[in-house]
Amino acid sequence: MKSIDHYIRRAAQKITKPWELIAHAGDKYLCPLCNYSSKDWALTGLDFPVIREKQIIGAGTRHAVCHKCGSSDRERLVYVYLTQRLQFFADRNKSVLHIAPELSLSKKLMPMGLRQYICGDLHASGYHYPSHVQNINVLAIPFDDHSFDLVICNHVLEHIPDDVAAMKEIYRVLKAAGRAVLQVPISANSAKTHEDFSITGPAERERAFGQFDHVRIYGQDYVDRLQSCGFNVNRQNISADYPKFGLNLEEDLFVAEK
Ligand SMILES: [Zn+2]
Repeated sequence: MKSIDHYIRRAAQKITKPWELIAHAGDKYLCPLCNYSSKDWALTGLDFPVIREKQIIGAGTRHAVCHKCGSSDRERLVYVYLTQRLQFFADRNKSVLHIAPELSLSKKLMPMGLRQYICGDLHASGYHYPSHVQNINVLAIPFDDHSFDLVICNHVLEHIPDDVAAMKEIYRVLKAAGRAVLQVPISANSAKTHEDFSITGPAERERAFGQFDHVRIYGQDYVDRLQSCGFNVNRQNISADYPKFGLNLEEDLFVAEK
């Protein structure tokens, strides 16, 4: 379900050398997940023409990864939103479902002492999953209705052909006042979502959608799609308020409320 760069980064972060941390140390930035202070971020992302043509926010090459913990700008955005805006952890009596959990973010959330913190991903052959990640298909989440206060599903829906079914499942398992953070790469200059399910080859998908395993490029009608599943969508941008944390200034938060 996750992109291959996600897993490559996971592997890469294991071999960060101490002298690299010294070389990149500085006081310009601060990773909110591991508290490493740096002068810059490591390069990440893929570069395909369609990413630039469609001005896809949340994709493309950029300096956005923490040298120490490997967190990406999109991970830090979710964490900063939860801690700084929601004060979500002020009350730990909460249930959270984290779909396709990013390693740095889930390592931070696990010891929080939440009533329930479930990590799930669709286990695909050839990939390694940490022991805390259950085999969960987001199209058939194995939990009752109204189970979770929060669902985090960060850059996952663009991989799923029937994304509306996934949205409906997330809606189903949310409690009445629950919310879901549903980030996707989104085209800044496209009103409509571009999808074509006849495009199935990895190279063709790279050309059409900017990544070998993406099945669409969301347009500005992404919000409509969420609303069609019953969500009230709170779209907001908080990145400029936290310059030290190295968030993507263009990346809006899509908070889907039940
Ligand atoms: Zn970090």
